[in-house]
Amino acid sequence: MASKKTDGLGPNTRLAHSGNDPRDYFGFVNPPVVHASTVLYPDAATMVTRNQRYTYGTRGTPTTDALAAAIDELEGSAGTIIVPSGLAAVTIPLLGFLAAGDHLLITDAVYFPTRHFADTMLKRLGVEVEYYDPLIGGGIAELLKPNTKVILTESPASNTFEVQDVPAIAAAAKTCDAVVMMDNTWATPLFFKPLDHGVDISIHAATKYPAGHSDVLLGTVSANAATWERLHAAFITLGCCSGPDDVYQVLRGLRTMGTRLARHQQSALEIARWLERQPGVAAVLHPGLESHPGHAIWKRDFSGSSGVFSIVLDGGGTRAAHAFLDTLQIFGLGYSWGGYESLAVPVTLSDRTVSRTPYPGPVIRLQIGLEDVEDLKADLARGLDAARSHDEIADGEP
Ligand SMILES: *Cc1c(COP(=O)(O)O)cnc(C)c1O
Repeated sequence: MASKKTDGLGPNTRLAHSGNDPRDYFGFVNPPVVHASTVLYPDAATMVTRNQRYTYGTRGTPTTDALAAAIDELEGSAGTIIVPSGLAAVTIPLLGFLAAGDHLLITDAVYFPTRHFADTMLKRLGVEVEYYDPLIGGGIAELLKPNTKVILTESPASNTFEVQDVPAIAAAAKTCDAVVMMDNTWATPLFFKPLDHGVDISIHAATKYPAGHSDVLLGTVSANAATWERLHAAFITLGCCSGPDDVYQVLRGLRTMGTRLARHQQSALEIARWLERQPGVAAVLHPGLESHPGHAIWKRDFSGSSGVFSIVLDGGGTRAAHAFLDTLQIFGLGYSWGGYESLAVPVTLSDRTVSRTPYPGPVIRLQIGLEDVEDLKADLARGLDAARSHDEIADGEP
């Protein structure tokens, strides 16, 4: 299928025109949503050689190809697989590239279900799992072993937003031929292109900004030329294909992702700066803020920031955090992010093993949605008031 060439064009132009070519479908702007298992062959010989564009529903359709081609253009990748969730986008490449006896390095500040997968299923299969400090940078060379096969990074970190020196980690990995995978969900390929920084495989929970409406689960995994064949083989072997309606919804979401992200970025930065000045807030963990310890690396490598960051309350424990959360009226209490609506989540850091930063109070993650900033500020101000007065009551208790 011919995809229109959008090389050299701006990100929003690419988002509007990448993926499918309307001339493939009678001029309709969007590709068809192909519901398919069986594909027919014209004759027995073709059937035996499977020498035709599509062969079976699990192996791809014009709908999945359109989304994969659009993602390839954004990532600069040789190929992209589309899987049923962001978590599957992490587990499938790990299963594809690891075997018993291999050593896997994972950032300690990784998305928790990724850690759970590594600590349970990968360990059971005989993989040696080791966590590294997200701030390790080129120091990761000291952790490399002859059997290190994969390094899994995620930057900025889940919940605490440490920025990793991805180019330094990738350069170290080259010395032992380890495959570098990166969960790039926070930045989207609009704000960070992992393959341009030495990463081999870029992972996305398309559930987040690409889908954008809290109604679809999907993952994408994009590989460079060196790793594509093996990644694709793992995908075919595991049979983890996705439903066509969900795939289509993500392609639809991509068309407006740049516009949505611009607003998420602007609103989140404005609210983060405002929160830095509010009583009751000890710190704002947002890499786009000059106060953030990882700001310089973020500025060097990233071209923008999305709408998710955390705040650290100035003292108080679980009860202050719950008072804050329970007072919010616009922010919903719910997991995931990347949708149009604002969300808040209490952060638990008990899973960390090597990067235990002592925060002065509870950490709360915020996803800034597309609502009006003044309304969101008023909601957060109410929450902070509640957290503070809760503290005072608690302090006054005998
Ligand atoms: C949400 C998320 C995932 C998992 O995505 P799902 O589609 O919810 O399974 C993976 N990695 C990161 C960084 C995420 O934020």
